[in-house]
Amino acid sequence: MELSVVIPIYNEESNIGELYERLLRVLEPMPLAGGFELIFINDGSRDQSLPLLLNLASRDARVRYIDFSRNFGHQIAVTAGLDRAQGQAVVIIDADLQDPPELLPALYQKLHEGYEVVYAKRRSRQGENVAKKLTARLFYRILANITHISIPVDTGDFRIISRKVVEGLRMMPEQNKFIRGQISWIGYRQTFVEYDRAGRAGGTTGYTYRKMIHLALDGITAFSDAPLKVATIGGFVVSGIAFLVGLYTLYSRFVTHDYQPGWPSLMVSILFLGGVQLISVGIIGEYIARLNANVRQRPLYIVSDTNMPAARSAGQEA
Ligand code: UDP
Ligand code: MG
Repeated sequence: MELSVVIPIYNEESNIGELYERLLRVLEPMPLAGGFELIFINDGSRDQSLPLLLNLASRDARVRYIDFSRNFGHQIAVTAGLDRAQGQAVVIIDADLQDPPELLPALYQKLHEGYEVVYAKRRSRQGENVAKKLTARLFYRILANITHISIPVDTGDFRIISRKVVEGLRMMPEQNKFIRGQISWIGYRQTFVEYDRAGRAGGTTGYTYRKMIHLALDGITAFSDAPLKVATIGGFVVSGIAFLVGLYTLYSRFVTHDYQPGWPSLMVSILFLGGVQLISVGIIGEYIARLNANVRQRPLYIVSDTNMPAARSAGQEA
């Protein structure tokens, strides 16, 4: 199998037909030696998506489907597809035609120029309201600033990845999936192709604000310890203020003699204790960050190439 296309489906009855046709129109002329498969993951749709998929699968052997027992969410749906994909290369694409299938040859072409990941970067986005665009813009920039790995800004999950990267993702058993971040974490040579993101072809977005906030939190907590360090920083700031107030008190007591007894001792002790408490919370935060890293059970490193026999533990060879 040369290429697998992973398509999460949540209430996409109005898009499945057109998506299927456009995918075929693009994929069939492509020189894919081992053929391709389309993997549709029905993520608990409440509309006619499943019967449509079953119908496609009965007519076309290249159509695979995975039907979830309920709505597990977009990232989990993509994960299920990646777990079962057999292709040497795998494309992740939204079902609502916001990610144009016509970009696939360009992505595939780049992959063959020696990259392991080619993501599609949004040059512009249409058909989405100002709030969504603004929050997305802000989120990707904040995330880029507080993580050590470089998660590309303005990209969704629309991308092509090689078999190596799929194996890498399978070695990351973490519960809270943020696939675009995981793929950056995995490394290898990555590049991008730019495109203009269209509006949704039909139907409505399955991403409620609630789901978006969850995704954002998953992304931040999985790839950054910055929020845990806020307490430490706050603690040092407050302690610093306490120290300055202390100095000022001494100055007014002994130099200017403009001194009101009572408040300086209260102020200094409250601020100082507050600072100490915040720093303590920060120390606990540091331990939690380490626990968190261990609980995720990620491989320590991923080896791209070596002339040594496979290691027995620690890192993983893709
Ligand atoms: N999706 C899913 N489960 C969900 C929400 C969305 O599988 O709980 C799918 C949806 O069918 C689409 C993709 O994820 O293929 C992106 O969702 P959507 O277009 O609603 O998100 P948006 O483009 O508005 O961010
Ligand atoms: Mg969409």
